[in-house]
Amino acid sequence: MASIASKLQQVRHRISQACALVQRDVQSVTLLAVSKTFGADAVREAHAAGQHAFGENYVQEALAKIEALADLRPLLEWHLIGPLQSNKTREVARSFDWVHTIDRLKVAERLSAQRPPERAPLSVCLQVNVSGEASKSGVAPAEVAALARAVAVLPRLRLRGLMSIPEPVEGFEAQRAPHRRLRELWAALRDEGLALDTLSMGMSADLEAAVAEGATLVRVGSAIFGERG
Ligand SMILES: *Cc1c(COP(=O)(O)O)cnc(C)c1O
Repeated sequence: MASIASKLQQVRHRISQACALVQRDVQSVTLLAVSKTFGADAVREAHAAGQHAFGENYVQEALAKIEALADLRPLLEWHLIGPLQSNKTREVARSFDWVHTIDRLKVAERLSAQRPPERAPLSVCLQVNVSGEASKSGVAPAEVAALARAVAVLPRLRLRGLMSIPEPVEGFEAQRAPHRRLRELWAALRDEGLALDTLSMGMSADLEAAVAEGATLVRVGSAIFGERG
């Protein structure tokens, strides 16, 4: 079985190829290693191979890992990429650096109120439901601008951009379409004057399509850590 270091190497190579194809600077894409379901040792191994940003879906699991890796804390950046219930905001505001899944003002207000004063403002993205299935979380495209304006003024948050988890589809062109919609929404907000720098889109199966559409952060799990059990 390939090591985490060699799989990380392969993913970095995929990102650089995808950037070359559309003449983007490879430095413009951040790799978020999605470590959900994998243990602290796997994160340690990835960190030893040069990775510093990690994504987690489940708050309790993440808190245990952050604790187990406390010795590396200043060198690691923790991103919450799973759904966030209002009763978990306090722990998240204390322990994470980023939250990608804001889709309600109430959760954003709680995070802002609960962010400890000694920490930098919490970086956040709004999760947008670009595929439009009723079951998925995320704000509807028509409601993004209003939510963005409201979140942007919260004092202890820093609104960084938009995130999406589109319906999985096969084929480069089909994969590009939802990423293009997210990029267009993001560009419209920037045109309005919001200082957004992050488009969080693309996973193991579609990172090339996401980079082609302007992703600044790709969230990659299985291609680095292996299949989840
Ligand atoms: C699990 C997960 C990922 C990573 O998915 P892979 O297909 O394993 O790369 C990315 N983003 C979110 C929101 C996830 O839940």
